[in-house]
Amino acid sequence: MTEARTVQHLIDGRLQAGGQRHADVFDPSTGHPVARVALADAPTVEAAIAAAQRALPAWKATPPLKRARVMSRLKQLLEDNAARICELITLEHGKVLADSMGELQRGIENVEYASYAPELLKGEHSRQVGPGIDAWSEHQAIGVAAGITPFNFPVMVPLWMWPMAVACGNTFVLKPSERAPSSALLVAELALEAGLPPGVLNVVQGDKEAVDILLTDPRVKAVSFVGSTPVAEAIYATGTAHGKRVQALGGAKNHAVVMPDADLPNTISALMGAAYGSCGERCMAVPLIVAVGPVTGDAIVRGLVAEIAKMKVGPGRHPENDMGPLVTQTHLAKVRSYVDQGVAEGATLVVDGRGIEVPGHAEGYFLGPCLFDHVKPGMRIYQEEIFGPVLGVVRVDSLEQAMALIDAHEYGNGTCIFTRDGEAARHFTDHIEVGMVGVNVPLPVPVAYHSFGGWKRSLFGDLHAYGPDAVRFYTRRKAITQRWPSAGVREGAVFSFPSSR
Ligand code: NAD
Repeated sequence: MTEARTVQHLIDGRLQAGGQRHADVFDPSTGHPVARVALADAPTVEAAIAAAQRALPAWKATPPLKRARVMSRLKQLLEDNAARICELITLEHGKVLADSMGELQRGIENVEYASYAPELLKGEHSRQVGPGIDAWSEHQAIGVAAGITPFNFPVMVPLWMWPMAVACGNTFVLKPSERAPSSALLVAELALEAGLPPGVLNVVQGDKEAVDILLTDPRVKAVSFVGSTPVAEAIYATGTAHGKRVQALGGAKNHAVVMPDADLPNTISALMGAAYGSCGERCMAVPLIVAVGPVTGDAIVRGLVAEIAKMKVGPGRHPENDMGPLVTQTHLAKVRSYVDQGVAEGATLVVDGRGIEVPGHAEGYFLGPCLFDHVKPGMRIYQEEIFGPVLGVVRVDSLEQAMALIDAHEYGNGTCIFTRDGEAARHFTDHIEVGMVGVNVPLPVPVAYHSFGGWKRSLFGDLHAYGPDAVRFYTRRKAITQRWPSAGVREGAVFSFPSSR
């Protein structure tokens, strides 16, 4: 028998073990372990923070253009190694290869944006704000930053964080999800190959034990988190209580509003991908459709049933499949229990994916697409994030009712409206209490040069992830006022508050 591959830590440029505990990493399509991941203990995490701290002075002093060139080389290496990276994503997460490729591409775009950091860091300059006085503001690196990331985008979400952080002159400790740890580690190794000096980016594998050190160690100055809302809220509370800057992105329950005038064939096709793509394990997935008017609901459900019948479910590595398995046995059991719950609550289960059989993969974590009609706001399947291939249709009479539902929901990550009416769309985008809004776009994930973030309990903190907000998050502003004394300075002290009056 061959010994299982161990996913290690990357500290100070070297792969290493650390910690007595390990966890199995599974191929969700077979239910078999494919590796074991080291779970860092406190000394291991402290060693990673120390390595980041040691690397900081030289890296911060490196000219921004030289730092940016590492990002340009990394972009190329990511493109060259795309197949390897995507195979690892699919192996440990389960999503279909085309979706892994889409995730990687979105990640690469963040690396590309980070390569523009010298332009983004230029700051502001004002001459002659007073006699012989110049003033300017700078973005200075904040220090050692940490990132804690979820299983569902094991490559893209880390790339939301550390490329811009290090391009701004910080050093970084990344803690990927222990459920899909290998691809983020491979990307970090490619960053070393691209020329990132040892210690600038460190990866510690682990769980809560590792996270707790990152949240409390005084050498860590900023923490970016993406994951579920209860954990995000706790991370925000603990990190800020320890004096750190924290952005913590949480869960979601995104509604798609379908107006009676929507282009139905295109809407249905867009919603299929948004609901069932990646097995519904996306924070921007659409698990709820709000059908407006007396006939929209029936037409949508009819169209979805016809499309679902064409879907192929199976291992993500086979290109003919549209949807792979859920990530773990535990998650499969949780999602199935929501389907049971929806039936018990009285929603109509129009398509039941619970009986699915994938030949040759009896132990895989598969659940077929599920569709509920007549979902009501009081139901748990309406309120809670299921994070699986379970789509519910809610019926309302008007756009105002649809918007009131969305505004009343605890989450506010993404939403979208399908309509041909520009005024309705404008009213929706102006007033809806959600951070990211699509008009005839089901997954309104901002491009890399805008920032990503939800409202309400989908984000704790002020600044959003990646894009221009990332420059603000990973830097401190410093305002400098400078005067080179002339004879005038000897005229005597001034005791009033300086102003340009
Ligand atoms: P999770 O909250 O279980 O884990 C996220 C990270 O936190 C992992 O690295 C994990 O090891 C760590 N962690 C877990 N429990 C912890 C604890 N008690 N204390 C400290 N650290 C802990 O999330 P997940 O299941 O990996 O990811 C799915 C969730 O992430 C969903 O809720 C999804 O909506 C959300 N998500 C949100 C966004 C967004 O941008 N808002 C993006 C992707 C995923």
